[in-house]
Amino acid sequence: MKEIRGVLLDIDGVLYVGRKAVEGGRETVAWLRDNGIPFRCVSNTTSRSRQSIAEKLQGYGYDIDAGLVFNPPLAAIHHIAGKKTFLLTRGNVRDDFEEAGIPLVEDGADVVVVGDAGDGFSYAAMNRAFRMVLDGAGIVALEKDRYWMGDDGLMLSAGPFVTALEYATGKTATVVGKPSTAFFSLALADMGVPPEQALMVGDDIRTDIGGAQAAGMKTALVMTGKFRKDTLDTSPYSPDHLITSVADLPAALRATYI
Ligand SMILES: [Mg+2]
Repeated sequence: MKEIRGVLLDIDGVLYVGRKAVEGGRETVAWLRDNGIPFRCVSNTTSRSRQSIAEKLQGYGYDIDAGLVFNPPLAAIHHIAGKKTFLLTRGNVRDDFEEAGIPLVEDGADVVVVGDAGDGFSYAAMNRAFRMVLDGAGIVALEKDRYWMGDDGLMLSAGPFVTALEYATGKTATVVGKPSTAFFSLALADMGVPPEQALMVGDDIRTDIGGAQAAGMKTALVMTGKFRKDTLDTSPYSPDHLITSVADLPAALRATYI
């Protein structure tokens, strides 16, 4: 392996789609291990804790534990450094904040953290967040994706709601998930691999490919998950590799780097 010494794998749309593992994904993970290529899983999922993401992957047959999973809450916890936080999220992502000892409040927060809250994006919850930001709280976006691929079609992600809060308050959110360089750097530092020797594999042309390129990494776009050819064709970003699915990653790495 001349140039690539570590791999970052997006999870949703790369390792599984909807409720199904991507065919060949488990074999690719095994191949990385067999070839001594370290990898970390970097997800923009903001509704699950690291442990819960790992358990979901294990349910699809992946041999991946929580220590290999990097999610935006991890980056947020790093960023907010113990300040009083209002969480506009859903699911057990709360566990990550509680385990890190972040004081979680419903009023008077210093920071409003916005993830994909799904049906939790009620008028009341958005307005509560809006008022706290007007009173001085900062906005931290766990991600600012436009949409993701659900079981029955595309779903609004956190981005449109973060943008609504920005629009209403005139403030700008700090995005801590992909595509922020700081997020990729956390996972790269954990592997001890510099960005120029790392490959990011994802299905989102903007957050995965654009973000990783801005961080100095090589990139591979998979044609699974939310991939759409017209989105690629009209995007300002161009991946170093376009592969049918994560199953083709070993072949792409062998052909180019080994
Ligand atoms: Mg994805």
